[in-house]
Amino acid sequence: MAAEYHFHGDLQTLLRRRWRDVRPVRQEVTRSASIKDVIESFGLPHTEVNRIECNAREVDFSRAVEDRDRFDIFPVPVPWDVARPTLLRPRPLQTIRFIVDNNVGRLARYLRMAGFDTLYDYRWTDGEIIALLEVENRILLTRDLDLLKRKRVEFGRYIRSGRPAAQVREVLNLFGAAGLEPFSRCLECNFPLRSVEKEDVLHRLEPLTRKYYNSFSICPRCDRIYWPGSHVDRMRRSFPEIFSASSAG
Ligand SMILES: [Zn+2]
Repeated sequence: MAAEYHFHGDLQTLLRRRWRDVRPVRQEVTRSASIKDVIESFGLPHTEVNRIECNAREVDFSRAVEDRDRFDIFPVPVPWDVARPTLLRPRPLQTIRFIVDNNVGRLARYLRMAGFDTLYDYRWTDGEIIALLEVENRILLTRDLDLLKRKRVEFGRYIRSGRPAAQVREVLNLFGAAGLEPFSRCLECNFPLRSVEKEDVLHRLEPLTRKYYNSFSICPRCDRIYWPGSHVDRMRRSFPEIFSASSAG
């Protein structure tokens, strides 16, 4: 006697090794536990699950697992509309905002370039990240499956790839192009930039910048000046699908 768990999409690849190749996963029901606890005991964080069916009926995370139950566990869809309430996440996010763990720290700069509100500090501990999520709900991006299992993390994503460029694609594919506003945000402090007249910053520019560029923005927080220089060109070449339509900031 046991309960049966069918993991859909690529969810099975995130299970602990001993469960990864077993389809479906079967386990005896020896204690009273919610489906959320059982799923996480297999290694899969709740953040990766979009929908659960028990015996073909949709249930929430609190459903107690009983003998002979059949569970179907579905991944979040691509793209993922986090503004739409679901049974598992009744409080949707109003806007797409990220907090980036230091194991995928390279993502932060790219996401800011794309215009996403992105919190990141390489010194943050897990505890500090969780504390920040208490203050405001954001999507946690990380390669740490255990961090995603923390109760406070409502929205999160386990980043599959180890390579920064692929990680950027992963995130942008998942959260879509909505909210994309390239080169509108300070890469250092995440603050929205405002445009500034060339003559107002002329005294701070190197001769070549002064000669070749005419449009400038400034970060109201750290006073850094931005113009459509080489980093913009590099970004456009690396991610043409994202940046082709936008004008430089
Ligand atoms: Zn700044």
